[in-house]
Amino acid sequence: METPKTLQQAIIHFSDPVNCNAFMIAARWADGKPRCPQCGSDEVIYLEKARLFKCRTAHSRQKFSLKVGTIFEDSPLGLDKWLSAIWLIANAKNGISSYEIHRALGITQKTAWFVLHRIRLAMQQGSIEKLSGHVEVDETFIGGKARNMHRSERARKIHGTGGMGKVAVMGLLERHGEVRTMVVPNVKRKSLRKEINTHVEPGSMVYSDALRWYNDLNYDYMHSVINHAEKYVEGNVHTNGIENFWSLLKRTIGGTYVSVEPFHLFRYLDEQAFRFNRRKANDADRFFEVLTMITGKRLEYKNLTGQPSC
Ligand SMILES: [Zn+2]
Repeated sequence: METPKTLQQAIIHFSDPVNCNAFMIAARWADGKPRCPQCGSDEVIYLEKARLFKCRTAHSRQKFSLKVGTIFEDSPLGLDKWLSAIWLIANAKNGISSYEIHRALGITQKTAWFVLHRIRLAMQQGSIEKLSGHVEVDETFIGGKARNMHRSERARKIHGTGGMGKVAVMGLLERHGEVRTMVVPNVKRKSLRKEINTHVEPGSMVYSDALRWYNDLNYDYMHSVINHAEKYVEGNVHTNGIENFWSLLKRTIGGTYVSVEPFHLFRYLDEQAFRFNRRKANDADRFFEVLTMITGKRLEYKNLTGQPSC
């Protein structure tokens, strides 16, 4: 299969539906045979004119498109737009806004916003394996436009977050491994400890700054503290890795995504973590990996906005 290497090549390549189908099939089925979403049979034929597949077994909904069963399902947008959008978001180091997608692909900004959220859903990793070895832990606050908010809105958003209109986010980074982030209700010891228990293998070496709530980690985790008031790096004892991730994240959220609603924040965190964890891969590989993650996930407009349709 011919693989584009640059954005320009990708857009040209995916303007041909035959190429889109080839990528969709390769990403979804390891043996390269598309399956009927109704009965699972691989006895299917391609109807070139209609650009649909048809199952040979007689049953309802014999004809299907490769979008069925993926984040693209029910979308009127063509695969050319979808695959180009994935290429853009998978490889934009600082993220890409719905306005940029709107202009680049010639779709409405509202549609672009929805497209981006569906792709972010695909990018969610949901790994259950615990981090181990040397793990940096840190927390930060995102947002904070409280000054510009109405008092009632401010009261609603600040409630329980621990910072003025900001959302508390915890980050865990395994050195030479992956980063994970999670929105936490506050930065109290109990909330942070819960995430460490969930995500870090006991016996790991945990590095943090001097915040008091990590002091009781010693029971299950070796623990090293760097006191930022005094110095930033002492040999191996530092949290530079996770802080590097925070600065990238803040460039994305503060620069590209100017108005992130707190309840959508985890989606942007997952998007940034996906790219960060694959920063050594090339554009084509990052794109293809997202494409392998589109199946079995649905995101409806009403779940994003509380409104019925796009
Ligand atoms: Zn079938």
